[in-house]
Amino acid sequence: MRFLADEMLKKTAKWLRLIGYDTEFLEGDDTAVLAEAGKSGRVLLTKDEELAKRADKVGIPFLFLRQEKLEEDLAIIMDRYGLEAGFPEKTRCPECNGKLEGKDCASLEGIPEDVVGGKRKCWKCSSCGKNYWEGGHWINIKKVLGKIEEQRRILSKKK
Ligand SMILES: [Zn+2]
Repeated sequence: MRFLADEMLKKTAKWLRLIGYDTEFLEGDDTAVLAEAGKSGRVLLTKDEELAKRADKVGIPFLFLRQEKLEEDLAIIMDRYGLEAGFPEKTRCPECNGKLEGKDCASLEGIPEDVVGGKRKCWKCSSCGKNYWEGGHWINIKKVLGKIEEQRRILSKKK
């Protein structure tokens, strides 16, 4: 499953990458976004009703999202396409959508000392070169993933 998000869904796109799904986002006018969706074969994710209508007209697969909260959007996307959160095994670079490669923490620069010394995991983005590591920020990531799961349970009860 590959996605193209409109510019209003930048944050959602980063979270899709984080849970392992190839997601690009595009800033620009609707015509450019539609052309890119058509060319790339990605599913268009949009918060723009006009854009959704245009996609529908030209037969581009799309999902129109009207939710306020990030975790609601993500729950709906995951539910619709049967996605599972692959964090951290399948995580892609939230910054550039590149693939992450597992690395020995000591071989990377800018990793906190306690991470290098411990038995934690590190990754390097094969595309932009950004380093990632298992750290305190994981608590927040897991919190958001928990909220998404909660939303999915609410969704499944509504069915
Ligand atoms: Zn990257």
